[in-house]
Amino acid sequence: MSAAGQSQGRAMTGTVYLVGAGPGAPDLLTLRAARLLAEADIVFHDALVHPGTVALAANAERIAVGKRCGKHSTVQQFINKRLVDAAHKHAVVVRLKGGDPMLFGRAQEEIAALEAAGIRCEVVPGITAALAAAAEVKTSLTQRGIARSVTFGTPRVGTQEQPSNWADALAATDAGAIYMGVGEAPHIAATLLAAGKPATLPVAIVENASLPSVRIRYMTLRDLPRVAQAQITGPALILLGPQFTARTGIEQSADAEPYRRALRKLAG
Ligand code: SAH
Repeated sequence: MSAAGQSQGRAMTGTVYLVGAGPGAPDLLTLRAARLLAEADIVFHDALVHPGTVALAANAERIAVGKRCGKHSTVQQFINKRLVDAAHKHAVVVRLKGGDPMLFGRAQEEIAALEAAGIRCEVVPGITAALAAAAEVKTSLTQRGIARSVTFGTPRVGTQEQPSNWADALAATDAGAIYMGVGEAPHIAATLLAAGKPATLPVAIVENASLPSVRIRYMTLRDLPRVAQAQITGPALILLGPQFTARTGIEQSADAEPYRRALRKLAG
């Protein structure tokens, strides 16, 4: 290849966009994300991203990188490599990640791999699950005089990682949003009680936030382990704080029609 051809080849290296897909409902996507999906040559999407969102990448090769949380870093390394390889072949590469890429999404590892390979990358924010869950329970995560601070945390640590101080952080703030926590509910409740949170602290588990299949379970911290054992199959977030009023029971959104209307509109 000529020198000119080589430099042209380099100039053709694409950009990788780490795009937030939002919490589930396809119409909770930013306009920028929708535009990039429409322009994309290739899309690598998380398993959890709604098919209606992935379908917006009408002209792209679409590849599910089926990584449910907690899988090994080898899977992550494989994804990193595929992003780098794709950028050498395509102009617009989208890595579509659930919620916001910068929260519990291993974005940093992808950014580091791209930067190490000299590939341009940009991040497009998305609505994170905690905000969609707060919307479902119609309860502000911060409230004047009640909740001045809110912590996004997870008890989950990867294999070979140091134990984290998630519980200290949650114990020290007024309100908490716990990601990837339902499977560890007994551990969460015991740890927060030991850290001084009251047994009567209101808790809401919000499953499938933003989707018609949303389910909200209200309880207190004392009852969290028992309630979390009930069948929860979708992604779920644990909200806790004094503002969540200690209700009990289950609520489910009955009216999915506005959601369906939005989906139809998106589909054109
Ligand atoms: N980057 C994502 C979080 C990835 S970790 C974000 O910003 O939202 C995956 C965890 O997010 C799940 O275990 C669950 O705790 C939460 N989650 C994702 N989608 C959700 C949804 N629709 N409803 C409730 N929780 C959700």
